[in-house]
Amino acid sequence: MKKQVLISGASFAGLTLAYWLNKFGYAVTVVELGKDLRTTGSPIDVRGEALNIAREMGIYDQIKSAEFVHTDEIVDAGDKTLVKFAINTLPEYLGDIEIHRGDLLEIIYNTLPKDEVKVIFGNSISALIQHENGVEVHLEKGERKTYDLVFGADGTHSTVRKLAFGPEEEFKKFLGVYFAFAATDSIQTGRAESTGIVYRELGKQAVNYQFKNGVNSILVFRAPKMDWNYRDRERPKLILKEYFGGNTNWKIPEILNSMLGANDLYFDEACQIDMPTWTMGRVGLIGDAAYAPSFFTGMGTSLAMQGATLLAKELHANENHEIAFAKYNEGFKPLVKSVQARVNRSLNVQLPETEADLKASFEAWGNQQQSSKTE
Ligand SMILES: Cc1cc2nc3c(=O)[nH]c(=O)nc-3n(C[C@H](O)[C@H](O)[C@H](O)COP(=O)(O)OP(=O)(O)OC[C@H]3O[C@@H](n4cnc5c(N)ncnc54)[C@H](O)[C@@H]3O)c2cc1C
Repeated sequence: MKKQVLISGASFAGLTLAYWLNKFGYAVTVVELGKDLRTTGSPIDVRGEALNIAREMGIYDQIKSAEFVHTDEIVDAGDKTLVKFAINTLPEYLGDIEIHRGDLLEIIYNTLPKDEVKVIFGNSISALIQHENGVEVHLEKGERKTYDLVFGADGTHSTVRKLAFGPEEEFKKFLGVYFAFAATDSIQTGRAESTGIVYRELGKQAVNYQFKNGVNSILVFRAPKMDWNYRDRERPKLILKEYFGGNTNWKIPEILNSMLGANDLYFDEACQIDMPTWTMGRVGLIGDAAYAPSFFTGMGTSLAMQGATLLAKELHANENHEIAFAKYNEGFKPLVKSVQARVNRSLNVQLPETEADLKASFEAWGNQQQSSKTE
């Protein structure tokens, strides 16, 4: 009989794991909290080994054809262009693919044979009870079933991690930064389609991405740890008002206004998840749930796809899940450590804290563009 697995979270980590485990002969069920795929979010990068995984999954060409190629500008408070460049052409990013979060999610989701992989939307695991031969799972809406293995791919604020490993605070490293993302289509950027416009001041960054006849805005800012629960939808709006209200620079009033009225505002703290082990008995974690590197590394999605693929291949190669889990923990840790260590460089460029660092952050892009032109 096929081994039964349950994956919590239908995003990059969860859907990649579902793809591979289904291919390797497991009976896969995915449970997703959202009523549908959660396709909002700023563009994300697919890099390094994740591109080879996309090739193995047969989706590289689709990803490439949906690539978000854009021109970027850093502007001053009066919207005057200070630096103009195309990030996709800079040497550091050559070969990487930047793509809209929703486009990549749909491409991966469409690889799943829907008559084989069961996806339950609008539900969540409420209890996990580990037995010697299986994990008894209770869902919030009442179902109960025992699975051979259960995986948490449910993001930074993972429920599976909380239930099987302990409270989030034990594993979370707060980076002193919060960010907000929303579709802000009413904003007029005055730029051509496919332009990313960045405005920076000390400890704050605002971005407008114009693409597909729409605009998405991001506000990022340094702040001390605040009393905020990620399920609270109203408190983020008060926090944004506190940090950006009254700021008349660049397009900040329009961005803030749109965000305060948005019903898809995505607000979170920038943090990393650092755990001594990603497996416990018959439960495993992947993606941000296990090793969120934060968006400052540009590696969250790639790590999610890579970790899910490695774990699935170890389970395929080793009949005993304990051996597979040990190999996953050992094999993936060095990459995670090195990616997580990169966070400070990008944090300092994007959110400089001194005037000298602010000036240097513009010049850094200008210089990179110059050197890429001369290669
Ligand atoms: C709506 C949304 C918008 C995002 N926007 C950005 C952005 O603008 N910039 C950025 O850098 N990163 C963003 N991220 C995070 C980014 O997608 C991840 O950092 C990264 O791609 C790693 O992917 P992941 O699959 O591990 O986790 P995620 O992409 O975070 O996916 C986790 C999935 O688990 C689901 N989930 C959560 N709790 C439960 C539960 N209890 N039961 C079942 N399912 C659950 C979520 O709805 C989500 O589908 C966003 C994530 C989401 C969910």
